[in-house]
This record gives sequence, C-alpha cells and structure tokens, in this order.
Amino acid sequence: MIDFEFTPEQKEAVEAAHKIAEELFRPISRYYDEHEHESPQELIDKLWEKRREGSLFGGLDITAALRAEEVCWGDAGLYLCVPSPGLGGAAIFATGTKEQLQRFLGNYNEGGPKWGAMAMTETGCGSDTSAISTTAVRDGDEWVLNGEKIFVTCGKRAMENPEGVVVVWATVDKSAGRAGMKSFVVQAGTPGARVEKMEKKLGIKANDTVTIVFDNCRIPYENILGSPEVRKIDKTETAGFKKAMATFDATRPIVAAMALGVGRAALDFVKETLEKEGIKIHYGLPRQKLTALERDVMDMEANYKAAKLLTLRSLWMMSQLLPNNLEASMAKAKAGLAVTKITQKAVELMGPLGYSRKYLLEKWMRDAKINDIFEGTGQINMLVVARRVLDYSRDQLK
Ligand SMILES: Cc1cc2nc3c(=O)[nH]c(=O)nc-3n(C[C@H](O)[C@H](O)[C@H](O)COP(=O)(O)OP(=O)(O)OC[C@H]3O[C@@H](n4cnc5c(N)ncnc54)[C@H](O)[C@@H]3O)c2cc1C
Repeated sequence: MIDFEFTPEQKEAVEAAHKIAEELFRPISRYYDEHEHESPQELIDKLWEKRREGSLFGGLDITAALRAEEVCWGDAGLYLCVPSPGLGGAAIFATGTKEQLQRFLGNYNEGGPKWGAMAMTETGCGSDTSAISTTAVRDGDEWVLNGEKIFVTCGKRAMENPEGVVVVWATVDKSAGRAGMKSFVVQAGTPGARVEKMEKKLGIKANDTVTIVFDNCRIPYENILGSPEVRKIDKTETAGFKKAMATFDATRPIVAAMALGVGRAALDFVKETLEKEGIKIHYGLPRQKLTALERDVMDMEANYKAAKLLTLRSLWMMSQLLPNNLEASMAKAKAGLAVTKITQKAVELMGPLGYSRKYLLEKWMRDAKINDIFEGTGQINMLVVARRVLDYSRDQLK
C-alpha cells in the first residue's frame, strides 16, 4: 500500500534543505540571475562540504525529491550548480558495470567539488533522440567520437573539473537506427572534446548550459556504457535506446520535484501578500460563493498538489522496483505544466508586484519554463503517457 506519511528522516531532510534554501540561496538569487555565467563559488564550496557530510543532496528517491523541491523553492538555477554527478551520473548508475561505477564515480565524495553531465541533444535532434548524428567509431582499443552536442546542463563545470564526466550519446551504426545508439563516458580533459559556447538563457541563469564539440575525441574502449553489440531485441525497441529512456524514468520525477519548488515559491508569495493585505481565502465554500481570486488560488494549489502526488507515486513505485515509466512521465508532464501555469497566474494576480524586479516572482516565472522542456518536453511526456495508456508502440503513436 502507498503511504505518503513522511518518515522522521525525511522531515528532517526537508527542514535542513529549507534552511539552506532560505539562508544560502534566496539572498543571492537575484545577483546570479543578473550575472549570468558568473559562478557562485562560495555557495558551491559550502554545498560541497554539506554533500561530503552526507547532509544534503544526491540520490533519486523520495527524500532526494523532497530536498530538490525545498532547494528549488530557494533558487532552481543555483540548485543546478550544486556539485553532483547529475544526469550523466544517473546514466552511469543505470547502465554502467560495477567496474565503471567504481572508475567514474567511486571516489566521488573525495577531493574537491565535481559535476557530471549528459549530452544527448543536437541541432535537429532533441525530442527525437533516435536521430542522433554524433558518431562513435571503434579504432583498436579506443572509440573515436565526432559531433556537436548542444544545451548540455553543467557541461562547462563537468568539462573543466579534473574529475568531471560527460555521458555522450552517439551512434555506432547509423543504418541500425535506435539499435546503433550507445552512450559513452568522456572524462574531463580528454583531447578532442571542447566547450564551444555558453548559452544565454531565459531562466535558471546561474547554471551553465553549453555546446560541446567532439573532434576526433579518443576515449578508451571500456568507456562504452552497456553492450557495444548492435542488436534488435524486438520489433520496436532496442537495448541501448531502452536503457537511455530508463534513465529518464529515474530522473524525470526529480525534475518534477524541482518544478514543485518553484511553483510553491510563487504560491507562498501570493498567499503571504494576500494575508498582508488582509485578504482571506475561504476554503470549504461552494464554488459559486468564491471570489475569482479565491478560485484562482485554489486552482493553483490543486495543480501543485496533484503534481506532487504524481511525483511521490512515481518515486515510490521505483523504490518498490515497479516499472514507473508511465508514472514518471505523468509526474513530469503535470509538474512542468503546473509550475508554468502557477507562476504565470501568480504574476497576473500580483500585478505590478509580479512584474517588478524588486521581487523574485517574475524570475520564478522565467525559471519555471525549463521544467516543461528538459528531460522530455511536456508534449513528449504526454506522448509517453498516451502510448502507455493506449498500449501503442513508439511507431504506432508518434
Ligand atoms: C536550459 C536547457 C538545458 C538542457 N539540458 C540538456 C542536457 O543536459 N542534455 C541534453 O541532452 N539536452 C538538454 N537540453 C535539451 C532539451 O532536452 C531539448 O531542448 C528538448 O528535448 C527539446 O528538444 P528540441 O529543443 O530539439 O525541440 P524539438 O524536439 O524540435 O521540439 C520543438 C517543439 O515541438 C514539440 N514536439 C516535438 N516532437 C513532438 C511530437 N512527436 N509530438 C508533439 N509535439 C512534439 C516539442 O514538445 C516542442 O514543443 C536542455 C535544454 C535547455 C533549454
């Protein structure tokens, strides 16, 4: 049976993360929004210490999601600067061998701050990840990578850190379609891999998003994640591709949790402002007796709560080793949409207070949108949901 009563440890984790969000993130939130590409070094050092103490971040479970929500309530861009193996690490956990886990992530908490990244998207290949054109060609005991990856979250940090890793998706056989798609670990400092450009963005500006070029980049043969074999396992899916997607089943709920944090920040701001103005929300009244403002606030809260329950459910299923592909996409689609709607409505309700840079509300509206884009857009996650619910294959419902 599902039980969403949080454990004492989870409650403690939430409190600790909230304190960090309030004391460390909020005070510098506007500064790093206005100084894009400047690194919040002092914050990174403090957070790395906390990570090493084991008191913050890491993992892909309910506690990790609760923490992500709290910290993103503080600032979602700064949350993404927290040293972590990131999406790249999640891919290594999902598909790597014991030896690879040890080699790439074994000493993770030792030494200085480290980052991981995942490079899948290319120009002309975002939602349709099977269209990847970056190539990996075997040459003796090495792979040679050629291609360009765009919009790599934490790509600069991962590439510049001596122990950083980037998981790169490339095809070993274009004619094989999805079956030829494999992932490879490129370690920071590998010749032939370079950061080409840093994006200037709408939101989450504190975090770096970069283009990485692979120009005859040679990596050891053992850096391939999963089998190098190009083999169809059934009519519609293939091993390498399935594994890539399985990584998202674990990480999409965490992105949903990030969205929840931004949404709740906006909701809290609205409710606190209304309270200061002496405006009460009358819960429990029939809908026709509510003011338009009350209905709006309740809709925002309902959207937030529905997204949260879906997020917790998808993570609970994962903790029970149950397939959660449908639930992870439901949570991500709902949370991405909910946070976009909540923050826009909050700006609308607050009028000039929402539009002014004096407050963070306008920033939260900008930060919100990314949750509906990365790790599968809202439309793509709805497509996954539709396929699962209707029992259609990828080819039957595109
Ligand atoms: C800040 C940021 C960080 C990112 N970080 C990473 C990262 O770390 N690693 C990485 O690999 N990528 C990353 N991305 C890329 C992101 O995952 C892609 O932008 C996303 O998957 C969409 O791909 P696209 O941009 O090519 O858009 P497209 O796939 O071209 O989509 C354009 C629009 O069409 C819609 N659409 C596409 N196909 C369908 C369909 N079949 N049915 C209905 N609608 C459809 C989409 O939903 C979208 O609205 C990041 C992007 C941003 C903005």
